[in-house]
Amino acid sequence: MWAANDSATGGQCKLCRRSLETSSHLCFECPWPNTIWDLVGVRFRLPSLCHENWPSRRTLFEWFKGLSRCRATDRSEARTIALTTLWEIWLERNRRIFQGVELSPGQLVSRIQETVGLWNLAFGSSRMLRE
Ligand SMILES: [Zn+2]
Repeated sequence: MWAANDSATGGQCKLCRRSLETSSHLCFECPWPNTIWDLVGVRFRLPSLCHENWPSRRTLFEWFKGLSRCRATDRSEARTIALTTLWEIWLERNRRIFQGVELSPGQLVSRIQETVGLWNLAFGSSRMLRE
């Protein structure tokens, strides 16, 4: 399993500053991203994204697959939102390490919403355009 490069992070998670940074920690154990997932789930009305709805035992694959556990008509959008959220959490982690800049959860969720909106403008999704 992937773990942080010690020279960049000292091994510590830069989001919560309390645990060793591993892929599973960043994806579904760290409290900071969990807050982001909850806010995103509420904002896009997709309960499968809220961390309290995730199964307790999971692999990374099972976890990601579960994020889009919703009506079939919403599944593609849920995957787009999940990937965008993952990407923005990763960018936030890198911003903190390499630029020393931190966004608030609200600022990050606004970025996610903006990015999803741009994806939907480019590829078309009537539901997201109404959000
Ligand atoms: Zn953490």
